[in-house]
Amino acid sequence: MTTTALPRPYQSYVYAYPHKTAYRPLADRPALREEWAGERKDALSLYLHIPFCEVRCGFCNLFTRIGAPEQLTTRYLDAVDRQADSVREALGDGGPVRFASAAFGGGTPTFLTADELVRLCDIAEKRMGADLSAVPLSVETSPATATADRLSVLAERGATRISIGVQSFVDAEARAAVRPQRRADVESALARIRESGVPVLNIDLIYGIDGQTPRSWRHSLDAALAWRPEELYLYPLYIRPLTGMGRTRAGTGTGAETESDASWDARRLALYRQGRDHLLSRGYEQLSMRMFRRLDAPVRGADDYACQTDGMIGLGCGARSYTSRLHYSFDYAVNMGEIRGIIDAYTATEDFGRAETGIRVDEDEARRRHLLQSLLQARGMETGGYRERFGTAPEEDFGVELARFTELGWLDGDREPGLLRLSELGLAYSDALGPELFSPSVRSAMAEYEPR
Ligand code: SF4
Repeated sequence: MTTTALPRPYQSYVYAYPHKTAYRPLADRPALREEWAGERKDALSLYLHIPFCEVRCGFCNLFTRIGAPEQLTTRYLDAVDRQADSVREALGDGGPVRFASAAFGGGTPTFLTADELVRLCDIAEKRMGADLSAVPLSVETSPATATADRLSVLAERGATRISIGVQSFVDAEARAAVRPQRRADVESALARIRESGVPVLNIDLIYGIDGQTPRSWRHSLDAALAWRPEELYLYPLYIRPLTGMGRTRAGTGTGAETESDASWDARRLALYRQGRDHLLSRGYEQLSMRMFRRLDAPVRGADDYACQTDGMIGLGCGARSYTSRLHYSFDYAVNMGEIRGIIDAYTATEDFGRAETGIRVDEDEARRRHLLQSLLQARGMETGGYRERFGTAPEEDFGVELARFTELGWLDGDREPGLLRLSELGLAYSDALGPELFSPSVRSAMAEYEPR
């Protein structure tokens, strides 16, 4: 039983460490060729970012804009093509360069037309050398853009996973999350995805929406389960600065402003537990706080591919790239005007041979990243792998933090020796636990970042 007061559960979704808000302009604009020299390149991940959506969801702080006027998608793909050329050249030919997984994310990659998706696949294959038919390829989509012609291109080119953001099967809740959509359109899109034959369907749902009740949450979960998705992601709603809901909350309109933080936290925690229990009882396993997989799912998607030491090549203006020592990307913003400016600057760029914005990852940060990314998985972290990589035990490096996690009841006391694994409470508090492992310098860079 814990004697220490628990912190607030929803602080920060740690899907990548360090977060982009800790990136800064790199004064020396290092050459990619030098940064990639000496790196292992035989199992890289490839990520292509498409920063366009047909609407801007009220909760979304991703790097994306609404619509693409005046051939902007063509100019954007021209730029991705140029970037791919430069990056492939920077990877060199001194050793094997292979991609072990690929993903198209956004934004909404299926905002592109079927022909444009063909071009995107060609860039991945012909420019970068990824064999899309041989590696896991995950693609994000939305109900309105999951059309048969686009899905057929993706299926033909080897997509193994289609992920669709539904958020809620209740129209009024979708409206409350500023994502207007009709249930009938969502169901048609899901039918088209199933007809495409892509083996893994993932459905994203959100809990904590204004007006959502345990009953309506159950309704959404069951509507999703009716499609027997191989994967489900359950996301807590966050209302972040400069998003549609963030702005509305500062003015009038969402019920979240009338609900105290403590009550909203308690409501989200209860909906999380309800969702988790429901999925576990329906034949799913929990892989992390958000991710669930059907136990009998036949094919595994790109998200299974999570080797700690692999490099990442991101193409497109919102994508990050990682070497073992440098994480880099382009500029980042949430505000629509700023995003438009960054995309325009990207499409005008000729020289993609240098890293512009990023953060150096030293040994200490590499240890934190390793611990964070493994500990937040339900299966936990084998301490032997950590020791093999860093030469120390995690308890030596993070004794204070791990003692606190034990005190809070976040670590599973019944775990086998050689394993660090979260308890049920720890998993529920993943978004509070993650930030506790941020380094002081990343923490202060994030705190200094001014949302724009
Ligand atoms: S949540 Fe997805 S569909 Fe909605 S604005 Fe963000 S990236 Fe676009």
